[in-house]
Amino acid sequence: MLIVMNHNATAADVAAVSRIVQGMGFRAEPIPGSERTAIGVLGNHGYVEDCNILELSGVQRVIHVSKPYKLVSRDFHPENTIVDVAGVKVGQGCRPVVVGGPCAVESEEQIVKTALFVKQCGGDMLRGGAFKPRTGPHTFQGLREEGLKLLAIAGKASGLPIVTEIMSPDNVGLVAEYADLLQVGARNMQNFDLLRELGKIRKPILLKRGMSATVEEFLAAAEYILAEGNDQVILCERGIRTFETATRNTLDLSVVPLIKEMTHLPIMVDPSHATGKRSLVSPMAKAALVAGADGVLVEVHPEPEKALSDGPQSLTFPGFEQMMKEIDRLTIFLQNG
Ligand code: PEP
Ligand code: MN
Repeated sequence: MLIVMNHNATAADVAAVSRIVQGMGFRAEPIPGSERTAIGVLGNHGYVEDCNILELSGVQRVIHVSKPYKLVSRDFHPENTIVDVAGVKVGQGCRPVVVGGPCAVESEEQIVKTALFVKQCGGDMLRGGAFKPRTGPHTFQGLREEGLKLLAIAGKASGLPIVTEIMSPDNVGLVAEYADLLQVGARNMQNFDLLRELGKIRKPILLKRGMSATVEEFLAAAEYILAEGNDQVILCERGIRTFETATRNTLDLSVVPLIKEMTHLPIMVDPSHATGKRSLVSPMAKAALVAGADGVLVEVHPEPEKALSDGPQSLTFPGFEQMMKEIDRLTIFLQNG
């Protein structure tokens, strides 16, 4: 439930309504807006009788929200949330953010070379997996802590913020020491213990859509993080499983404008995992930006044919450079309407 206050309601009115809500056994979360304050009511199961609340001083109306997510919904928070990743603002609406880097950190030379190249082309953040969620246990699983250390070296050399995946609640402290943006991969979108731990830290989170997750499940997963107090969450569409096998996944681009209607959180698109094919990455990155995505996350590798994971979908350096030039032109076009 959401209690919308009058535009001239006082702080004392807000406090009084919050006290009454708490007295009913629920949590009250005041959400200040540019025009008026709203009070989110959390912890109720089912409909809450609102006649007493409607009579309180300063209350304009009550909106009943029956969705499994509230804090992430536009009803609760009408303005866009801007996520600050070590100074890079995501969700500002002007310039899209580009995150580039290899699927996995493989060596110091590989990650530093890639970081410098991503920076040189105008990329905003460096990605690279140190803890890799691989389908089978006999493939390269990532360099783990050593990979995080190499990311720190590459981040320092290039000045780019670091994006890397977190797989286990046990490693949140360790990964948060190195990462500027902690990525929850598709396979962990519903790892609720992990989501809760990430809600307790004060670093931004990139939450990828599970490969078979509905939009409602995706937003409910984000709700776990916000419910623990961390509202710095960026959503990421990375393709879903369908009957189609010509591409690795099916990029569900319609969720970009849909999610913008439903939530205030920024959304990025990962065309690399969505398509699985290098030649499709740049076209789908551009399509994502036209659809309104706040940024894209792409895999790029100095020698994709030698990559230890996801080589076929990794851009070459010239491919990345070309995509960046096209994104720059597209951004100017989109800004000039
Ligand atoms: C990745 O970004 O390297 C990754 C494993 O992505 P996803 O979780 O979307 O498969
Ligand atoms: Mn990958």
